[in-house]
Amino acid sequence: MKQAYDLVKAGISKACRDSKRTPADINLIAVSKFQPNSAIEELYQYGHRAFGENRVQELCQKYEELPKDIDWYMIGHLQRNKVSQIIDKVVMIQSVDSIRLAETISKEAVKRSLCMDILLEVNIANEPSKFGFLPEEIYAALHSIAALPGIHVRGLMTIAPFVANEEENRLYFRKMYQLYVDSNNKNIDNVDMSVLSMGMTGDYRVAIEEGATTIRVGTGIFGSR
Ligand SMILES: *Cc1c(COP(=O)(O)O)cnc(C)c1O
Repeated sequence: MKQAYDLVKAGISKACRDSKRTPADINLIAVSKFQPNSAIEELYQYGHRAFGENRVQELCQKYEELPKDIDWYMIGHLQRNKVSQIIDKVVMIQSVDSIRLAETISKEAVKRSLCMDILLEVNIANEPSKFGFLPEEIYAALHSIAALPGIHVRGLMTIAPFVANEEENRLYFRKMYQLYVDSNNKNIDNVDMSVLSMGMTGDYRVAIEEGATTIRVGTGIFGSR
C-alpha cells in the first residue's frame, strides 16, 4: 500500500507543478469505506490522519476501534436521524445535501455546544442518481444555512460523473470552482469558503488543476473494495 500511497502523493505533486499550486495546500482524504482497520492502521503508520467514510455505522465502529487522533470526514449521504451518532466523531460533514439536514446538524451541534464544519454538496452535472444541491440552488441554500447556529460553512463538495477519461470532468470541476469563488464573493455572514472538495482516484489530477483544495481518494490508495 505504501507504493500506491506514494504514487498518489506523486500525482498530487505533478498536478500542482502543472498548475503552479503547492502540495501543502491540498488535503488528501483517504477514503477507507469497506476497508479493514488493518489497512487504515497501515496508512496511519505512514503518518496519514485524514480518512473519509460514507456510512454512519461503519464510521462509528472505526472511530471506536482506531486511534483518537484520526480526523474522520463524513462524505456520504447522511440521514437526519443518524446525525446525532456522528456529530461528536467527525471533523467535517462534506455531504450536506438539503436544508433540513443542515437544520438537524445545527440542532445537534448546539445541544453539544460545538460548531460543525460543513460543505454543501453540489450535483454539478445534474445527475438524477446523485444527491446534492443543483448549482442554481446554492446561493439560496447558503443564505439559509449560514444563518443557523452551530454550523460553519467552509465550502463545497461534488462527486463528478463516472467517466472513462478524466478530461471529461474538467468542465464540471471548472464550474465548481466558479461556483466556489462566486459564493465567496457574496460575502455571506458565517460563510468562509476555503474548501473545495472534488476529485477521486480517476480524476483527482484534473480536479487539482481546476482548483480543488481537498481530494478524496479510495481505490488509488487501498486498492479495490
Ligand atoms: C468512495 C468515494 C470516494 C473515493 O472513490 P475512489 O474512486 O475509490 O477514489 C470519494 N468520494 C466519495 C463521496 C465516495 O463515496
